[in-house]
Amino acid sequence: MDVELTAEQAAFRDVVRDFADREIVPHAEEWDRDHLFPVDTVLAMGRLGLFGLVFPEEYGGAGADFVTYCLALEEIARADSSMAITLEAGVSLGAAPFFYTGTEAQKQEYLIPMVAGEVLGAFGLTEAEAGSDAGNTRTTARHDDSTGEWVVDGGKTFITNSGTPITKCVTITARTGPGEISNIVIDAGTPGFDVMAPYRKMGWHASDTHELVFRDCRVPVDQLLGERGQGFKTFLRILDDGRIAIAALAVGVAQACLDHSLEHAKTRNAFGGPIGRYQSIAFKCSDMALAVENARNLVHKAAAMRDAGRPIRRIAAMAKLYATEAAVTATRDAVQIFGGYGFIDETPVSRFYRDAKILEIGEGTSEIQRLVIARDLGLPVE
Ligand SMILES: Cc1cc2nc3c(=O)[nH]c(=O)nc-3n(C[C@H](O)[C@H](O)[C@H](O)COP(=O)(O)OP(=O)(O)OC[C@H]3O[C@@H](n4cnc5c(N)ncnc54)[C@H](O)[C@@H]3O)c2cc1C
Repeated sequence: MDVELTAEQAAFRDVVRDFADREIVPHAEEWDRDHLFPVDTVLAMGRLGLFGLVFPEEYGGAGADFVTYCLALEEIARADSSMAITLEAGVSLGAAPFFYTGTEAQKQEYLIPMVAGEVLGAFGLTEAEAGSDAGNTRTTARHDDSTGEWVVDGGKTFITNSGTPITKCVTITARTGPGEISNIVIDAGTPGFDVMAPYRKMGWHASDTHELVFRDCRVPVDQLLGERGQGFKTFLRILDDGRIAIAALAVGVAQACLDHSLEHAKTRNAFGGPIGRYQSIAFKCSDMALAVENARNLVHKAAAMRDAGRPIRRIAAMAKLYATEAAVTATRDAVQIFGGYGFIDETPVSRFYRDAKILEIGEGTSEIQRLVIARDLGLPVE
């Protein structure tokens, strides 16, 4: 595998880094403090082309490879995880299902504005009783033969990008018959579709997350996305891509911790000199640099394998597991290196620490990644 970026990939990474430094870094602390979803910045990410990177030009995208998308996520996450997850969920969970399984009419109506970054889509898989066990979906979509509509009843929990001012729709998994799970698109504002108050979260304060409730929510028959009964297969495919993307986000978090930790270790003095002269501080930085390197290599390998059309279930799980656990460790060590300042919210590493934990949970917990890997190794693990 070629570990060097192409000139085009490196140039685009620099463009995104510059954007993040100018448009996100100066505001991230305020958004975190005020729990503010910065619509204008999200729209600016759209104008930069970030939401359309991996989609073909015929839908307004850039036709770039998955490695480039991962580079963009890493750079946005170096500045702020909330903006990175807004991008990741918008692309991998919101737009990708339309690209993979949408009819041409659905692509025109939903995918094109999502690719342009003018609207967001969300993906509602998780329910109160169906998280890791996503097949336990209880939400139902009954076909009403008299009106030709789908009638949706149930609810979804923890759905990212589902209640922003620019959310166009939520694609949900629902039971459409015995043993049958399908994807249904619910437009924002549909009667019977309620977006509950935002969750109060440990981190990701500038990311939008809601519980969704459906009561006799009626949508036209052509809001079925993909084939009836194929909804489970679709979300597994989406999650494979999403896991590589979350891993890229985690690399950005770990890299940011390394940057801040090095700076602090060199400039913070204790007992007559910089704290970086103590092995306990320096070796934390060494371990962090090693973890960033390993995690980034795994992400790039997984992304390159996906670009080559090779099977990615195991490598995607490995990248997600390794990179997210590396990010959580990096944030904990960075806070330790910052001492008391690391516990104060104005210090970026404090925000990184609160934002990192969810990376080991969302889009499949660390335990589920280990399960996926063990099964792929042929073990009969439960
Ligand atoms: C901020 C945030 C944003 C989110 N965004 C979205 C979104 O946009 N769309 C969406 O659909 N979901 C979203 N989620 C949901 C997220 O994907 C789930 O929380 C996650 O998959 C875990 O499910 P759960 O919370 O039900 O935990 P559970 O499944 O109840 O797991 C609890 C614990 O049990 C362990 N466990 C469960 N089953 C097994 C097993 N078989 N073997 C070993 N251990 C096991 C888990 O690893 C975990 O440690 C989001 C969650 C949060 C907090």
